[in-house]
Amino acid sequence: MSNLATRPSTKRFNAASVAPLFPEAEAQANLARYLPVVLSALHEEGVDHPALVLLALATIRAESAGFAPIDEYPSAWNTAPGGKAFALYDHRHDLGNQGAGDGETYRGRGFIQLTGRDNYQRYGDRLGVDLIHRPELANDPEVAAHLLALFIKDREQALLQAYREGDLPAARALINGGRHGLDVFRQTMNRGQQLIADDAGRTVASTRSSCDTGAISGLSQQVLNELGLDGHLIRINHPLINGEGDQNNPWLQPAAYRDLVRAVNERGRPLRINSALRTPMQQHLLHQQWRRGECGISAAARPPWSQHNSGLAIDIEDAPGWRPYLEQHGWRWLGPHDPMHFDYVRGGIDLGAEQVRAYQRLWNRHHPQRPLVVDGLWGPATEAAVNRSPAAGFGHS
Ligand SMILES: [Zn+2]
Repeated sequence: MSNLATRPSTKRFNAASVAPLFPEAEAQANLARYLPVVLSALHEEGVDHPALVLLALATIRAESAGFAPIDEYPSAWNTAPGGKAFALYDHRHDLGNQGAGDGETYRGRGFIQLTGRDNYQRYGDRLGVDLIHRPELANDPEVAAHLLALFIKDREQALLQAYREGDLPAARALINGGRHGLDVFRQTMNRGQQLIADDAGRTVASTRSSCDTGAISGLSQQVLNELGLDGHLIRINHPLINGEGDQNNPWLQPAAYRDLVRAVNERGRPLRINSALRTPMQQHLLHQQWRRGECGISAAARPPWSQHNSGLAIDIEDAPGWRPYLEQHGWRWLGPHDPMHFDYVRGGIDLGAEQVRAYQRLWNRHHPQRPLVVDGLWGPATEAAVNRSPAAGFGHS
């Protein structure tokens, strides 16, 4: 589950948080003026993923350190020594320019330096603004912000891929066509990492309303790896038992699994398991959903007190049909308040506290300056840490 594909947020970007990215004095007043316009445009075009917002800001800085939509300056790129300004662009057919005057008329403008008759025509059409006859509108803050957003949108997947691979020259080239301003672009991206590093993806808490504990399967898997499953648990692997799915960790303690297989073989029919082993983080989400009356959760214990946290419980389909077989083999139906749930009652060990310890160790490795006490207890500090842990797992942000 890629954290780069999940729901974006622009709340973390505001004039104060972005100010360190734009150290130039004139940028500060412009940030207050233009940043909201830029963020709105990115949101409206559907490209407000944090990584894309940062790429957009770094692009603005590479084009306009003062954070304002501006005209391109005459330079050796566009103007011959002693010649008319921008005349070197007049016959750039690759830009769609058609001759004398087009170079100056359709010179670079805006936050991304829209350049050339073709681009003015194409993007003006998309925005419903007549940029061919009123090219100066490319510097209008709203228009300039939407031009930037459309450029990002047209290259969204390639930009995200370059970002994921840390290939900033490729990201810069996708917008600029070359490496102009690459150093400033890179510097801005590096400074901005602070803004998005902690939670570029979703946090555990932010997945609650999705009603899908599979949304934190990345973090869950890390904790299970840390726990070391093979010492304590057996993976469900039987032709009549289907326990696959993002929400389920198909593992049980050895005795519980052995007796489950006996019941299944006795009935000789397929068994669908919706939930077997749960991590305390998954249990936490279910418990929160149940307390709030969300997601149709009929019952969920506090973590780590569910037998699911120890690999000693299952939630299944067709519980009434299975009940006589399971109860012959050490599994007990919990009752009508949680009608899919069976507990294994012939013994086992408590893995709930072990799982919490595994989580606490994992957190501490990634936050050595803010460690949790590794006590296996689900206290307020541990719960707060879980809530802000990345759903995709540590180190994937
Ligand atoms: Zn259950």
